Amino acid sequence: MSTSGPVRTRAVLLRTHDYSETSRIHRYFTEDHGVVSVMARGIRSRSAKGGASAGLFDEVDLEVHLRPGRDLQTLRDVSLARGRPGLGRNPAAFAAAGVLGEIVLRHHGEEAAHVVFAGLSAALDRLSEAAGNVPGELLACGWQLVGQLGFLPQLTHCVTCGRALQHDEMARMDFEAGGVRCLRPECGERFAGPRVGPGARRQLADLLRGRVPGDFGHARAHLRLFSDFTTVHVVGGRPLEAFRVFAALLPADGGRA
Ligand SMILES: [Zn+2]
Repeated sequence: MSTSGPVRTRAVLLRTHDYSETSRIHRYFTEDHGVVSVMARGIRSRSAKGGASAGLFDEVDLEVHLRPGRDLQTLRDVSLARGRPGLGRNPAAFAAAGVLGEIVLRHHGEEAAHVVFAGLSAALDRLSEAAGNVPGELLACGWQLVGQLGFLPQLTHCVTCGRALQHDEMARMDFEAGGVRCLRPECGERFAGPRVGPGARRQLADLLRGRVPGDFGHARAHLRLFSDFTTVHVVGGRPLEAFRVFAALLPADGGRA
């Protein structure tokens, strides 16, 4: 954040919590200034002027008075640009949006973020319109977002020996190394990471491109893989709280929510 003074930017409200009886802290992800936290005192939204008011994960036009280095910026105006009402009607999709939001909040700083902003915005639209298979949609959106943040698992070659894996070869995920190990004695024979077989790797390759594979299954195993990879590489070692919330909404068989 290099500028000081009033700025206007497209933004998504990712988190909000009470600060006092009359004030709330809103954490926005903005297109031009990354993560921006503001203090909202009293009723400051457009609803007071007759327009629609913005909720969590809605897209807004945000006007703040920026001062570099401050934890809390001064809110000047916020108006709803695009609502995502589908999220309010679908608890699983809302929780999935929370996972994406926490990844961005935990990873991103105050730098401009056009690619990530566009990616997050498209992902939230997609979740808002999700009709079924929310775990698959979350994984497709989540892996794509993680890629936009600059992290992708290596799936085609062994991270230890560099050898290309055969189409029918079993492998194990090495989260620290950021990819799969083959099971040769010198690589992964005794390695304890989760098994990632040919089918799972093909499904992962689809998800990394933002596509839910037609034969998507084993949702819980896929979600755990995504959570563990993200914990190690993207958000600094502490598991996502929003992920726990999402997992708790899944049916016991881990199938399609
Ligand atoms: Zn190897």
